[in-house]
Amino acid sequence: TLTPLIAGNWKMNGGRASLDELQSLADMLTTGEAPRAVVVVCPPATILAAVARQGASSGILAGGQDCHAAASGAHTGDIAAGMLADAGAQYVIVGHSERRAAYAETDADVRAKAEAAIGAGLKPIICVGEIEAERDSGNAETVVAAQLAGSIPDHAGQHEVIVAYEPVWAIGTGRTPTGEEIAQMHGRIRAILADRFGEKGAAIRILYGGSLKPQNAREILAIDNVNGGLVGGASLLAKDFYTIISAV
Ligand code: 13P
Repeated sequence: TLTPLIAGNWKMNGGRASLDELQSLADMLTTGEAPRAVVVVCPPATILAAVARQGASSGILAGGQDCHAAASGAHTGDIAAGMLADAGAQYVIVGHSERRAAYAETDADVRAKAEAAIGAGLKPIICVGEIEAERDSGNAETVVAAQLAGSIPDHAGQHEVIVAYEPVWAIGTGRTPTGEEIAQMHGRIRAILADRFGEKGAAIRILYGGSLKPQNAREILAIDNVNGGLVGGASLLAKDFYTIISAV
C-alpha cells in the first residue's frame, strides 16, 4: 500500500515569519509519534531553500509551487525545475487551478512542466479538478479525465508522479464534495491511471485538495483511493497542518 503524502501549498502567503511556523511544525513532528505520511511543504520560492534546509532534520520535504517548462532562457520572473532542485526541492506542483485560470495554462503546458520536473529529478504534483458549473452539469468526471489525459506525461509510469484532485469550487471556500463524491472521483482517476499505466498506475498517489481542514481530514483521508492531501489555508498554521498530518 502507498504511504500517504500530505503537502502544504502556502501559495503567496508567508515570508520569513513562516519559518517560525515551520520550526513549530518540525518540533511537533519530532516530539510526537512518527508521522504516518510523507510531509511536503511548498512555500514561496524566495524561502524554498530555507524551508528545505530547516525541514531536513524533521523529515519535512520541500516543493516548488510551479516551474517553467524550459531548462533556462529568457523567461523573466520564471523558475526552472532544475533551479528548484538546486534550492533543495524534491517536489513541484504543476497545473494548479489558480495558474490554469490566471495564466491560461493549458493541459499541454502542464504536461510540459511535468516533463521538465521529471527531467530535473523532481516529483511533479499534477493538479486537476472541475469548476462548479462543470460539476453541476454532471461533467466533472469527463473534465477531469480530459485533464489527466492531457497533463500527465506518457513516461509518467517510469517515474514518481503524484496526481492532486482539487475541485476548483472547493478551494478556499470551506465547501467540499461529499465523501461519496470524492470516492467516486478518486475511483475514476484510479481506473484511468490503471488503464494508461497498468500496474504502475496503481502506485501513483491521488491526493485530495480543497478546504481540507483539521475538522474533515480524518473522514476525507480515510476514503478509498485518497492517498493524501494537498492543503492550502490549513497548512499555514503548524498546529492545523500537524492535525491534518496526524489524521492519516
Ligand atoms: P485550500 O485548502 O485553502 O482550500 O486550498 C487548496 C489548494 O488549492 C491547495 O493547492
